[in-house]
Amino acid sequence: MSEKIYDLIVIGAGPGGYVAAIRAAQLGFNVVVIEKRATLGGVCLNEGCIPSKALLESSEHYAKTQHEFADHGISVSDASIDISQMMARKQGIIDKLTGGIASLFKKNKIESIRGTAELIASEAGARKVKVTRGEEVLELTAKAILLATGSEAFQLPHLPFDGENIINARDALSLTEVPKRLLVVGGGVIGLEMGSVWSRLGAEVTVVEMLPQLIPSADGQVAQTLLRSLKKQGLEIMTKTRLDKFSKQDDGIHATLTTEKGEQEVVCDKILVATGRRAETTGLGLEAVGLQVNKQGQLEVDENYQTATPGIYAIGDLAPGPMLAHKASEEGVVFAERLAGQQSKVHYDVIPAVTYTWPEVASVGKTEEELKEAGTEYKSGKFFFAANGRALCTGMSDGFVKVLATPESGRILGIHIIGPQASELIAEAAVVLSFGGSVHDLAVTCHAHPTLAETIKEAALAVNKEAIHG
Ligand code: FAD
Repeated sequence: MSEKIYDLIVIGAGPGGYVAAIRAAQLGFNVVVIEKRATLGGVCLNEGCIPSKALLESSEHYAKTQHEFADHGISVSDASIDISQMMARKQGIIDKLTGGIASLFKKNKIESIRGTAELIASEAGARKVKVTRGEEVLELTAKAILLATGSEAFQLPHLPFDGENIINARDALSLTEVPKRLLVVGGGVIGLEMGSVWSRLGAEVTVVEMLPQLIPSADGQVAQTLLRSLKKQGLEIMTKTRLDKFSKQDDGIHATLTTEKGEQEVVCDKILVATGRRAETTGLGLEAVGLQVNKQGQLEVDENYQTATPGIYAIGDLAPGPMLAHKASEEGVVFAERLAGQQSKVHYDVIPAVTYTWPEVASVGKTEEELKEAGTEYKSGKFFFAANGRALCTGMSDGFVKVLATPESGRILGIHIIGPQASELIAEAAVVLSFGGSVHDLAVTCHAHPTLAETIKEAALAVNKEAIHG
């Protein structure tokens, strides 16, 4: 019997790989997906986006019983936390979603193999992969291979993960009890989300960030507002601060921090290192097919997502660009459509970014800092949630919407939101940016009342000093 040749082998079933596989199957390709973990869905579903949002939701409910319900006239006298139930709920959501992908694979007739994939030397047109699952080794051949192996937490040499004292986000999503004192190294999205979860559940949380602002890529005013808000919630936040060394002592971990004013010691029970992620290429066999990673550890690709080696493609966290699930999925769709000869494109200028803290932070397009640096002229309009009826009713009225637009035509360049439901509100901003819309388009769109989305319309009106309630 002649060897089976697949149209496409996908390595990695995260939001990049599984979406690419489904789209490719829809387009008629014969696809097999290889995934080394027990369940599909990658980091996003198993130990990233989804479990973190599940715990953010649970911890927010608890925090509300402590700090907000009384204002509504509701008294909750003995609210308590059952961490194992919280974790079980989180796992239930993961199981539902990862099982859902398995069903989608079945529906789309995608073959799915559990095992670790390694590229082996082969020619364009018949690329080969070795798959190891336990004792068994398989060899698969395909016309094209898509690498979607994602990323792993970046480990600092002086803070090696041990799963107990020095932990990464994966560990922080599965703690069995609330740590008394948690030190978070890294004031980016993951550090702030995980810091918020454990702070809401009662931990004393200190966040240290080397740079002058939290979420370095965020709009400066947004980052400042978030800093104030998190401090108000009780998180200790130290910017321009580095953790240089630590020692384990009887009363906890003694961390030596280098601040602008000199050295300072903080004693804690756990250190969560959330200083970024690096692309996962360990054991992938890149050398065998003549591939090398760039300085960031990722694989460079062309507009078809093809690497320097014909027939081998890369998307998601493994390829350049923001390490976000929706960026990976967009690339998965476009990769498959271009493989089928279509001229699809990812709009890299319109990729929203969200931080699910309280208040939430969401943005799309350019920040004021980026526009200034590029010498681009712009006008800005801002509207505060404190003047929005719905926000006041929800009791969550910190924050604002900022709209940046060109001075003449009012074409929108960027929208930045800090406030309630920013993660949902940003979709309207992304739509208007992706069709090249203007402040006029937002201003003439009738927004339901009372809604949080009215702040976007008012911020657009504010660009020309026409906001009604501002
Ligand atoms: P991954 O999701 O990393 O999947 C890659 C898969 O490939 C993995 O399952 C891995 O096991 C498999 N694999 C690797 N090597 C091999 C091999 N040799 N053989 C077989 N299989 C292999 N992003 C957002 O957009 N929104 C969020 O809210 C968000 N929250 C996050 C929270 C946390 C705590 C973390 C850690 C990340 C978060 N992210 C979020 C980032 C998001 O998870 C990633 O950007 C996304 O998962 C990348 O998708 P991917 O398909 O490139 O790779």
